[in-house]
Amino acid sequence: MNRIKFLPVLLALILLASCTPVANTLQTTVAGTFSAPTTAVPTIISTFTPSLTCSDTPVIDTPVPSETPTPTPISLLKVYYVDVGQGDSELVLAPDGGIVLIDGGEPDSGIIAFLQDHGISHIDLMIATHPHSDHIGGLTQVLNSMPVTRVISNGQISTSSTFAHFLDAVAADKAAFIIVKRGDSISQGMLDFAVLNPLDIGGTDLNSNSLVLRLVYGRVSFLFMGDADKAAEANMITAGFAALSTILKVGHHGSDTASSPAFLALIKPAVAIYTAGVGNTFGHPKAITLTDLAAVGAQIYGTDLNGTVLVSTDGQTYQVMPAKGGPRLPPLPTVTP
Ligand SMILES: [Zn+2]
Repeated sequence: MNRIKFLPVLLALILLASCTPVANTLQTTVAGTFSAPTTAVPTIISTFTPSLTCSDTPVIDTPVPSETPTPTPISLLKVYYVDVGQGDSELVLAPDGGIVLIDGGEPDSGIIAFLQDHGISHIDLMIATHPHSDHIGGLTQVLNSMPVTRVISNGQISTSSTFAHFLDAVAADKAAFIIVKRGDSISQGMLDFAVLNPLDIGGTDLNSNSLVLRLVYGRVSFLFMGDADKAAEANMITAGFAALSTILKVGHHGSDTASSPAFLALIKPAVAIYTAGVGNTFGHPKAITLTDLAAVGAQIYGTDLNGTVLVSTDGQTYQVMPAKGGPRLPPLPTVTP
């Protein structure tokens, strides 16, 4: 795409974004349903006693008097950490039918087939953490394949053709384009995603400006790191935005450019899931990252070993269901004679 065509599209999208209510009360009407997967997968059930932060207020159900007890409805939130090879993609399915897609892997990463296999024909909320192709490449294909209501961005512009194609697809799909920053909250029906990073788009490092999102569902919380690096982590720590989180989507595919011990000590994830391709040329995940994750007590899963990993929760307990295998062990310490 040449720049003459690219720039008007971008300006139109930014204009549209500036006209969109980005602040703390984004609301949308939830529509649509999805089909639950029918494939049987091995199940690992975990329960935990959470340490609560101020935003981890437990849900308290007040019993309603009744002559005949009725079963408590189970409203499961499902988060898929999708195996898209060397890339990143998470699908969040809310009990009220809301469908949220965070990143989509590279083009032809398999995200389209994954969505089709799960009966998904539209996306309510699409979140692009940052403009690298292993995150937005697949999103472009999704935009070209099905209706998307809203697209969330950090507002950082890339000169790559991948980003230009992404913006073209947003415009063609007539999706609302919304820019968010730290302190915003993105509402999707019953879900609220708190934006923890970035505060602003400083510098040119795309990874460091990744959108970092935290989702709280009852007693269980999810942290989505994108490719945020140690600089972003330090910034969040300083600003008081590094909050306890039950399930961590590990930053930057398990690279040692992310997941500093200081940050992990504050997050204290019970489960850490990284996304990486088998035999990737980057060496992801790094051994030191696995060691540091294990040191804070996290059970570690990776899409390279486990395939797609599903975490479902009723807000009280959670289940981790990898397509194959179980949690991986950290590297053994080197023994020196
Ligand atoms: Zn990446």
